[in-house]
Amino acid sequence: MNAKQILNDNNFIFKKRFGQNFLLDQNVLNNIINTSYITKNTLVIEIGVGAGALTKKLAIKAQNVLGYEIDKTLEKPLEKILKDNDNVEIIYDDFLKRDINQDIKKYNYDKLYVVANLPYYITTPIITKFIEEKVDVEKIIVMVQNEVADRFSARPNSKSYNSLTIFLNYYFDIKKAFTVSKNVFYPKPNVDSAVVVFTKKNKKAFLKNENVFFKLVKDSFSQKRKTLKNNLRNYDLVKINEILAKYNKTINSRAENISIDEFIDVANNLS
Ligand code: SAM
Repeated sequence: MNAKQILNDNNFIFKKRFGQNFLLDQNVLNNIINTSYITKNTLVIEIGVGAGALTKKLAIKAQNVLGYEIDKTLEKPLEKILKDNDNVEIIYDDFLKRDINQDIKKYNYDKLYVVANLPYYITTPIITKFIEEKVDVEKIIVMVQNEVADRFSARPNSKSYNSLTIFLNYYFDIKKAFTVSKNVFYPKPNVDSAVVVFTKKNKKAFLKNENVFFKLVKDSFSQKRKTLKNNLRNYDLVKINEILAKYNKTINSRAENISIDEFIDVANNLS
């Protein structure tokens, strides 16, 4: 029996509020798997298991799959769909409320990957969570809305460039792997999607103190339309101005004009 039939038999109702657009196209699913390079000693976290189509394929490649699904009405159908995949565990809970490091503690693995067709309404909080909880992830391969995919690797001076762009690009090399038409989802969403690959940087830029950098970047973007001078009132503005002068910038610049390397230089001189 295929997944669609099992969902029907269990009178499953699609819930828009959970961002439920299931991916059933075998070609796209295979492309995601081929882009991921999962090995047998990989633990894969999947956020939003849905009807388990991606989960099944991940389970074949990975050592273990730890899935999260907020919709408890999927528990019964998923038991049937995944009955032959004994290396899959599913936690029926809101992923955003979990302690990830606690959940993965019991697993023995070499590398941790995240592979998911994300619920679009919480794409940013999900990705931010891995950074905030300092989870040591090797790769994140996620399907997101196409326009969001471009935002992740936005350059300075563009509208989409923000503190998240900076944090993500500090930790990861980010690449849009391929776009996916809205027509391959059920139900069909309003916009096209893209698969984005985040690969942990082998060598991160040198930071004397990560916390100083994170706070500086957050504070600099606290009011996007305002200049650094206004957003960083409690900082040593003379020193910041001195450092920015190297890059032909001043404290009258806005955060969106400052590159990651420039923020790093400022942070290292404040630490
Ligand atoms: N992985 C499936 C696929 O590719 O067909 C489903 C993807 S669908 C876009 C997103 C899934 O995430 C839905 O099954 C939804 O119920 C689930 N979800 C939404 N919010 C969630 C949350 N906070 N925690 C865990 N799962 C969530």
